[in-house]
Amino acid sequence: MKRADFSPLPDTKINLKDYDPDFHEDWNKQTAKDETDRLQERIQDLQERLYAEGKQALLIVVQAMDTGGKDGLIKKVFSGVNPQGVTVTSFKAPTPEELARDFLWRIHRHAPAKGFIGIFNRSHYEDVLVVRVNKLVPTEVWKSRYDHINAFERLLVESGTRILKFYLHISKAEQKERLLARLDNPNKHWKFSLGDLPVRERWDDYMKAYEDALTRCNTEYAPWHIVPANRKWYRDLFVTQVILKTLEAMNPRFPPAEAGLDQVVIPD
Ligand code: ATP
Ligand code: MG
Repeated sequence: MKRADFSPLPDTKINLKDYDPDFHEDWNKQTAKDETDRLQERIQDLQERLYAEGKQALLIVVQAMDTGGKDGLIKKVFSGVNPQGVTVTSFKAPTPEELARDFLWRIHRHAPAKGFIGIFNRSHYEDVLVVRVNKLVPTEVWKSRYDHINAFERLLVESGTRILKFYLHISKAEQKERLLARLDNPNKHWKFSLGDLPVRERWDDYMKAYEDALTRCNTEYAPWHIVPANRKWYRDLFVTQVILKTLEAMNPRFPPAEAGLDQVVIPD
């Protein structure tokens, strides 16, 4: 497979077995890190323009299995970006108040305002992933959600928000390594949850659920990217490259200066 295949075209049937989580082109740890740092500086500049312009928003959805690296990715890619212009929302199991509404109610209120980059650490996709695998709602209910998600994302896009969706793809063996590392390191024990083990047992069911979400909700206006994520440095580079390309295409511009600025004298 080549790099472009990891950003599949709409209507491509996704079979995750075809996607190598170790894929890294010709990059190595050092070259990838250097390139990521270099590109990040450009993201910082574009984010400032986006904020100053105040006309467009960018929504970044991050999904992964446990230990897939959502936290590490967000920390790395947005380090150095002005925190004033970025919102991060982590979606946990819904509260009773949230469960009493439609599944998009809690999501929509966190959509980024114009000028902002909004990052979703988990998202409305949980409602066709964990909810489906654990049979938390009847089949007809989760089945109807793909269309609701596509319509919701189209609404955001037509209201001035760009959407990028990243699935961080790790192998089951890599997850085992990362879980063992968490057990070995007392400073990582807080990241270890016994509740993650039953999820691991259902790995194949999750892959099937991911494949359907990636296939059915990969639209031209809100595309999915399947990020090879066994190597953290390639994962970070891949996502940084996609975000930078998108921000460049959005081409945010500083607003014009107020008239007469060239005549201003600052009094003593
Ligand atoms: P960490 O890497 O820190 O473990 P996390 O994203 O796994 O981060 P947790 O608090 O461990 O955070 O887990 C959040 C849990 O909430 C996940 O198990 C996820 O599947 C669950 N969840 C999120 N959205 C929903 C939803 N709509 N319905 C049911 N469960 C959900
Ligand atoms: Mg967790």
